[in-house]
Amino acid sequence: MGTSTPLIELRDVTKTYGTGRLAFQALKGVNLRIEQGDFVAIMGPSGSGKSTAMNTLGCLDRPTTGEYLFKGAHVENLSRDERALLRRKYLGFVFQGFHLLPRTSAQENVELPLLYRGEPAAQRHAAARKALAAVGLDGWEHHGPSELSGGQQQRVAIARAIVTEPLVLLADEPTGNLDTQRSNEIMELLWRLNVDRGITVLMVTHEPDMAAYSRRIVRFKDGRMDSDEPNPAPLMPGCQGGAAQPEVR
Ligand code: ADP
Repeated sequence: MGTSTPLIELRDVTKTYGTGRLAFQALKGVNLRIEQGDFVAIMGPSGSGKSTAMNTLGCLDRPTTGEYLFKGAHVENLSRDERALLRRKYLGFVFQGFHLLPRTSAQENVELPLLYRGEPAAQRHAAARKALAAVGLDGWEHHGPSELSGGQQQRVAIARAIVTEPLVLLADEPTGNLDTQRSNEIMELLWRLNVDRGITVLMVTHEPDMAAYSRRIVRFKDGRMDSDEPNPAPLMPGCQGGAAQPEVR
């Protein structure tokens, strides 16, 4: 942390859905700085504004008022197309429901973002195989989602999110559909991507056991940030149940 430009900065961001009598303010002035390499768990009750904040951070939606700076550039002034370019270049997304294309192999699912980028087939194949190996799915390239377990499907989704080498991974309840063991495996994977590759991870979760892997916990309440605290002893891979301090880079 320092006075240098943070990777991400929200300045007094508000978001209002609808107009007039039906207007609803989902974010009521959010200030947030995220440094490159951070691992932030976003928590809070249903309806507190977490998804709205993630949609804003993920450049899917624009704030109603306030500023969003990404690498110092003002996102709130960008057009829809410009935001799409920024997403493709810098962001990767992982969802609770995996969102894989059915009847499409793991390999082809992972290649998709590269296809959108117009990368040639040979490069796409090589990058997808590498990403699948990185999530522990060596040898599963030609299996479709219906032949994979939930944990494996989420691994494919993570491979798809990292195949473009993003700066930031935005994960919306990535373990919400998984049992405890699979959830811990997915969290260990996110932890490694954060620590080994320096990918900034922003993750919404309801589960304190999963937030325990993060290095910082931000809590939303009623459209505002209720707390923002470092996690002094994040869980490390292989240490469920006994928190340990990871190596500080
Ligand atoms: P969370 O992710 O914490 O459950 P959300 O950000 O999804 O919270 O929602 C915050 C509030 O904004 C909720 O009251 C929700 O009903 C409202 N909201 C979310 N999206 C829309 C929308 N597209 N139109 C109107 N209201 C919305």
